[in-house]
Amino acid sequence: MKTVAKDILELFFPHICHGCGVPLLQNEKHLCLTCHYELPLVNEASSLESSLHRILYGRMPLLEGAAFLYFQKGSFVQEILHAFKYEGAQGLCEHMGQLMGMQFNKNGFFNQADYLIPVPLHPKKERKRGYNQAAILAKGMSNATKIPLNTSLIARNQFTESQTKKSRFARWLNVSSVFEVPPEASAQLRDKHIVLIDDVITTGATLEACAKPLIDLGAKISVATLAKAQ
Ligand SMILES: [Zn+2]
Repeated sequence: MKTVAKDILELFFPHICHGCGVPLLQNEKHLCLTCHYELPLVNEASSLESSLHRILYGRMPLLEGAAFLYFQKGSFVQEILHAFKYEGAQGLCEHMGQLMGMQFNKNGFFNQADYLIPVPLHPKKERKRGYNQAAILAKGMSNATKIPLNTSLIARNQFTESQTKKSRFARWLNVSSVFEVPPEASAQLRDKHIVLIDDVITTGATLEACAKPLIDLGAKISVATLAKAQ
């Protein structure tokens, strides 16, 4: 369903499926049963040699990597990601984080991790949106995995323009120095296993930039995303 039409429908019928727009039954939350069944799971056998390792190959040392869902243009995973960013669907976002954590538990991924750290949004953007969708995903994942959420070990320090229309190199330049570890946190990172959380991985430039200052201070980095391009 077209997003605008769905937005208008939602004004009148708030309990509709974020994936396909059908009214939800009383025991359904955020997504209908059909959409839950049809989630396009990535479900790779190993988090030590994953498709995220191929994306980030040669750019950063990666311990474990896993994405929960495949993302395609026009798919309902795109609807879900859109809802996170523009419709304030925090309940849906936390729910997806929980499902993602349950799947990774089942696969035995990230079970030695010390912290989940969401990739920070720029404070201006976060104020405008009211929340950081990666932090809400991480909260849901933390509920399911019992890995503590930590949002105090890395911060974002300058405004970057929208990433969407830039080449990989331009994106890298754009984000390569925007993340930093607050001075009071720098002694807490040595040998810590940190799972960076983001909603979607495309080129990996943002995750690479966010990982760098943590790696420089001795942390071991894993990456988990809700979605990845197919
Ligand atoms: Zn549905």
